[in-house]
Amino acid sequence: MRIKRWMWIVITIVAVLWVTKVWLLGTAVSPNSEYVIDLNALHRAAIATGPLPESIEVEKIGDFAFPQTLVVAGDDFHMHRMVLLSHRVVWPDHSLIIDTAMGPAAAKKMPGSKMDVAAYERMQAAMKKASAVIFTHEHSDHVDGVASAPDFGAIAKQVRITREQMSGPKFERGDFPPGTLNQLEPFDYQGLYAIQPGVVLQKAPGHTPGTQLVYVELANGKRFLFVGDIAWSFDNITRQTGRPRLATLLMKEDRPAVAAQVKAIGQLPPDVHVIVAHDPIALEKDLQAGLYRKGFSGL
Ligand SMILES: [Zn+2]
Repeated sequence: MRIKRWMWIVITIVAVLWVTKVWLLGTAVSPNSEYVIDLNALHRAAIATGPLPESIEVEKIGDFAFPQTLVVAGDDFHMHRMVLLSHRVVWPDHSLIIDTAMGPAAAKKMPGSKMDVAAYERMQAAMKKASAVIFTHEHSDHVDGVASAPDFGAIAKQVRITREQMSGPKFERGDFPPGTLNQLEPFDYQGLYAIQPGVVLQKAPGHTPGTQLVYVELANGKRFLFVGDIAWSFDNITRQTGRPRLATLLMKEDRPAVAAQVKAIGQLPPDVHVIVAHDPIALEKDLQAGLYRKGFSGL
């Protein structure tokens, strides 16, 4: 049978669409360097400056959803539920907040989002009492809880944002009400930085320039590593498959650097509890395992 001209056009269009889909959505990338997570050094830094924290708490501020194919390269198009979390590290006499999710106005822009306003208000109250508020990175679903704070003056002193986070191209300066950003003083560090006893920061640029690991060691010996959005799902780590090229292009991330971090995280011993920022299944598993408590207490 002779293939007619219109058939060739259809075949070409289908082939181009298929190649584009595979190129944009179907393939993960390999690391181009080694990212080192030195647990002994993190432990030494954690215990060097004072008593370790006793527990960790979590608030689920909201839900949203992305197509699974944007979360794990090569997966299908079903909607993948994601959570907006804020964690709180607790000592007998103080506390520290890790990530602040989003305020109601910003959350409306997230696909399929649903806010828990009571949880958001508990987080606002907890920020006022905290000795520090820190961020795994500078995207608005992690810092907007500060940008949207109804009582910004009461939390500004506690906010510890790094220079890389505050100057990152995706740090949404416009979300901060006029006159608030200049109340924040960015800080610098090199290597490992124990921002409070038991809480150690390590830079991990890639997903954003200001991404950092937050290592937490409790007095009972339990160890946690908050990895923010280096992975969106625990599957990225267990399957060693990162986000597809399309997600990377949209966020302008350094994909090989993120792949190196995902590899290093995947090689950690199982007693280091890795916490990814948006995984509802991992959250439920961790809560059932009693690794941390649901709800900020004593407010
Ligand atoms: Zn995020």
